[in-house]
Amino acid sequence: MYPWEACVRKVTPYVPGEQPFEESKIIKLNTNENPYPPSPEVMKAAECIKWKDMRLYPDYRARELVKAISLVHGVGEDMIFPGVGSDDVLSMIFMTFFGSSKPILFPDVSYSFYSVWAEVYKIPYEKVPVGEDFTINPEDYYRDNGGVVFPNPNAPTSLALEIGGVRDILEHNRDVICVVDEAYIDFGGTSALELLDEFPNLIVVRTFSKSKSLAGLRVGYAIAAPEIIKYLNDVKYSVNSYTLNTPSIEVGAAAMLSGKYYATQTEHVVLTREAAYPILAELGFETLKSSTNFLFTKHERLSGKEIYDGLRARGVYVRHFNAPRIDDYLRITIGSEYNMGFMYDVLRDIINGHDNA
Ligand SMILES: *Cc1c(COP(=O)(O)O)cnc(C)c1O
Repeated sequence: MYPWEACVRKVTPYVPGEQPFEESKIIKLNTNENPYPPSPEVMKAAECIKWKDMRLYPDYRARELVKAISLVHGVGEDMIFPGVGSDDVLSMIFMTFFGSSKPILFPDVSYSFYSVWAEVYKIPYEKVPVGEDFTINPEDYYRDNGGVVFPNPNAPTSLALEIGGVRDILEHNRDVICVVDEAYIDFGGTSALELLDEFPNLIVVRTFSKSKSLAGLRVGYAIAAPEIIKYLNDVKYSVNSYTLNTPSIEVGAAAMLSGKYYATQTEHVVLTREAAYPILAELGFETLKSSTNFLFTKHERLSGKEIYDGLRARGVYVRHFNAPRIDDYLRITIGSEYNMGFMYDVLRDIINGHDNA
C-alpha cells in the first residue's frame, strides 16, 4: 500500500447493468431501457444540430431545455434544475442538501446508487426495511433524520406507493429535504408534483432515460421550489458549469415537446407488461404488481441465479441482484413483443430442462 492510499476517498462503486460493446444478437432486458426509438421530433432536432457552433460553450443554463420542461409541467423556469441524466441531478442533490450529521433515510430494497453517493460524499445513512411484501411503509419514516429519498415507483421492486403514502412521508418530514425519484412515473403511479405547492422541501426528480427512450443522451431534471433550485445551481456552477452539452439541450427540448408520441409508446410498453402476467404465472413465476417498465419476479422452484445464468447462456440478459432479500428475484425490462416472446420460449426451455433433469 502506498502512503497516499490512506487518504483516498474509497467507495464500493455502483455496478451498472452490462452493456455489450459491439452490435450483437443479445436480447437486452437488463437496464430498463426503452425498446422503442425516440420521437420523430427528436430525430429531426438531431439532424438540425449545427456542428459548426460546437466551438462555443453550451448555454450553461440550458434555457431551451428548461423552457420546454417549464412549459410541459406548468411550473416556473426558476423551479427547474437540469442535469446529465437524473444520476447527475441526484448526485448534486446529495452533495448540496445532505450535510446533516443525522442519517438520511431510504428503503433497503431500492436504487443502489443512493448508498454509493452517501459513501462518496461521506453522508451518514440508514436503510429503512421495506415490508415483507416489499411495500414502503410511510410510518417507518416518522423519525429524526437528515433527509429522505426514495423512488416512486420503487426500483427494483416495481411497486408504486400511492400518493397518500407519499404525502404521509412528507407531512412527517417537513424540516428536511425529501426527494422523490420519479424515473418510472410515466409507466404508473401518481406524481408528487401535485404536492409541490404544499411542501417547499420536496424535490421531484425525472429522467429522459426510460419513458423518453434517451438513455444514451443523458438528460434528467429536478423540479422544486426556487430557493432549492438556487442552492443546487450554486453548487453545480462551482463544480462544473457546462455539464449539459449543446446537442443534449436541443434534442432534449424536442423530446420534452413530443408528449403525444411518448404517451402512445408508453401505453404500448404497459400493454406488453400486462400481457406478461398470465404467461409468467403459467411458467411458475410469482410477479409483483409493476407500475414501471420492468417486472420483478421469482420462480416457485428455480433460484434467481439459475434462471439468470440460463437466460444469459442463451443470449438473454436480465438483472439479478446478489443482495439480501432479493436474490431469488429477477428484474426483467419490458422489451418489444418479439423479444419478450423469445424470452418466454427460453424460460420455458430452462424450466422444462430443470424439471426433466
Ligand atoms: C434509471 C434510474 C435513474 C437514473 O437515470 P438516468 O439515466 O441517470 O437519468 C435514477 N433513479 C432510478 C430509480 C432509476 O431506475
